[in-house]
Amino acid sequence: MKFATKAIHAGVHPDPATGAIMTPIYQTSTYAQSSPGVNKGFEYSRTHNPTRTQLQDALAALDGGQHGLAFASGMAAIDCVLRLLKPGDEVISTDDLYGGSYRIMTKVYEPLGIVFHFVPMRDLATVREKVTAKTKLIWVETPTNPLLNIIDIAGTAAIAKEAGALLAVDNTFSTPYLQEPLALGADIVVYSLTKYMGGHSDVVMGALVFNGDELLERLSFYQNACGGTPGPQDCFLVLRGLKTLHLRMQRHCENGRAVAEYLRQHPKVEHVFWPGFETHPNHAVAAKQMRDFGGMISFVLKGDKKEDAIAVLEKFQLFTLAESLGGVESLSGHPATMTHASIPPEQRRKAGLSDSLIRLSVGIEDAEDLIEDLAQAIG
Ligand SMILES: *Cc1c(COP(=O)(O)O)cnc(C)c1O
Repeated sequence: MKFATKAIHAGVHPDPATGAIMTPIYQTSTYAQSSPGVNKGFEYSRTHNPTRTQLQDALAALDGGQHGLAFASGMAAIDCVLRLLKPGDEVISTDDLYGGSYRIMTKVYEPLGIVFHFVPMRDLATVREKVTAKTKLIWVETPTNPLLNIIDIAGTAAIAKEAGALLAVDNTFSTPYLQEPLALGADIVVYSLTKYMGGHSDVVMGALVFNGDELLERLSFYQNACGGTPGPQDCFLVLRGLKTLHLRMQRHCENGRAVAEYLRQHPKVEHVFWPGFETHPNHAVAAKQMRDFGGMISFVLKGDKKEDAIAVLEKFQLFTLAESLGGVESLSGHPATMTHASIPPEQRRKAGLSDSLIRLSVGIEDAEDLIEDLAQAIG
């Protein structure tokens, strides 16, 4: 089955009780048993809920995986993966990753005795250098947030396999429409469904997709034992969002290209970070592992002044200044004070995240209107 057909049909079946085409919202916490322990596969909604099951099956199908697990947020999904670790275990992670991921790693798991190495993973040699006998997990985000670096998933998977470590890929920026990490050798695909997968800025949710019964047993144990599960209404909203994922992503990519090209020729713009440019240092890897280049773009103004960036952000009419990304509407952000404020300034600078950097999540409006907004805001 090709992607668009999967987005609409995979994992989703007419409701067995009524034939309803759209998955009903099973707004129930518990299920009747005919005799103690005898049930229809559902006991309690933290453990299983039919709306969530259909979403999990749809997510697994889209990523070409056997299993999907849904969580109350992207962070709850990330937390579930990190629970696989024990004190003394080592993790290699990219150095410009989502601020919340950096925070949970350094503020929650480092104090518990897990050792994290944050390295520029676009250079695979720096990953190889950090591998020890204690390396249990390699954590990739690609494209990275907000510098749009590209990490070679297949190359990292080979290193992980040799080290006997798991490879987790946060695929929030790409979605399975642009890139399928499991097919490239990853063990676990991680999502904030809040972003492109839900796609309408109306829900906070997360998910994991992976293969194999051993990972299913371990991860679903933590999903149920720790209880960070989503409600059925939120699962319904993401199921609905997934049905147009391919159409939305296609337009995000088209508009992303138009905006990136406009910014690149603008006399007041110093640099545009977007993996679709042939001049991007990892363009070849992006072209190899991605179907297209997405709608996330960052740029720096000439002079690199924080005040100039803030003035532009305040002038935007369509690019609403807000946290988050991946919705139908265009958003703008200032990572240094917003999404990445939890990363210490020295660490930010080391990763190349300047204080004047503006991040855009290019929506699916008309590209002409978006470019007009950029023109009036940058001046
Ligand atoms: C937003 C985001 C997360 C966290 O997801 P929430 O749904 O906000 O908990 C993780 N990774 C990336 C890349 C994100 O953009």
